Amino acid sequence: MEAEVRPLAKMDFVAPSSLKEVLSLLEKHGNKAKLLAGGTDLIPKMKKRAIMADLVIDLNRISGLSQIEVRNDGLHIGGLTRLAEIKESPLVKEKAPALVQAISLMASPPIRNRATMAGNLGTASPAADTAPPLLVLDASVKLESARGERIIPLSEFFTGPQSTVRRPDEILTEVFLPVQDGSSAFLKLGRRKAFTLSVVSVAAFARIRRGKFEEVRLALGAVAPTPIRGRRVEENLKGKEVNEQNIAQAAEIIKGEIKPIADVRASEEYRREMSLIFTRRVLEQIGGRG
Ligand SMILES: Cc1cc2nc3c(=O)[nH]c(=O)nc-3n(C[C@H](O)[C@H](O)[C@H](O)COP(=O)(O)OP(=O)(O)OC[C@H]3O[C@@H](n4cnc5c(N)ncnc54)[C@H](O)[C@@H]3O)c2cc1C
Repeated sequence: MEAEVRPLAKMDFVAPSSLKEVLSLLEKHGNKAKLLAGGTDLIPKMKKRAIMADLVIDLNRISGLSQIEVRNDGLHIGGLTRLAEIKESPLVKEKAPALVQAISLMASPPIRNRATMAGNLGTASPAADTAPPLLVLDASVKLESARGERIIPLSEFFTGPQSTVRRPDEILTEVFLPVQDGSSAFLKLGRRKAFTLSVVSVAAFARIRRGKFEEVRLALGAVAPTPIRGRRVEENLKGKEVNEQNIAQAAEIIKGEIKPIADVRASEEYRREMSLIFTRRVLEQIGGRG
């Protein structure tokens, strides 16, 4: 049976050309407005009436929010930067390889050409693929409103499925990754090899000195109401020698940290088992680089 194609519900649409205008529109209409970046998530949901808005604020005419820059403190990625551009950026490849790996495994080239950094985080999907790499890279996000700006660690940004700490009058304008010494990796399990949402995704960052984990960070997607850090696994491995046995023991702990659900893509048990296997694999991958 063919899916019913429904037109969008009636709404007002504005396409301001400056951030200042967006902030003033959000100040007046924040509760009833939706920000439109790439539209690859928002438009299909609006067609299904899963998201309704009286006003859509198109961000595509705004300049100055799609830069990728390295400054003294780290890497700054503008919220409106397209995922395809991040994937091809030599700066991101060097500083945040796990993010590039995650984007390479997302959706399809046409979608990555439209989809943006802020849009992926803005979905607040537990399976948003940029979240695990950004979590292990200790990312924070900048939220701006007419009242000012605030910087929120990404680990405090998500509050539940489709829910974040963003207030209705705020826009996510930047993702920041601090300078750090170490390596990162990302793995994704989907129902197919490409063009598929994550059943389990996992990212790890590690700094290894003299054969030991000096610093380890682990994050998973699609196995809890929000993307999560695997903090007990991290604590278990810190200071330990990098070897298969220590990694396998620590990876076991992840089963107690996740809260997977069963859905159309996988059962709860499968997600739990695969979280363990993918945690072990990603830690072995970065351990092997030490
Ligand atoms: C066929 C298909 C395959 C997909 N595959 C994947 C996949 O493999 N992995 C994955 O993670 N996702 C996938 N997606 C989902 C989607 O493409 C991505 O999440 C994408 O990154 C969304 O970005 P966007 O710019 O298009 O966001 P939009 O659709 O424009 O917006 C998404 C949400 O973010 C909010 N938002 C947008 N910009 C801002 C901002 N600056 N500040 C605050 N809130 C903002 C919007 O209001 C909306 O709620 C897929 C979608 C489709 C249709």
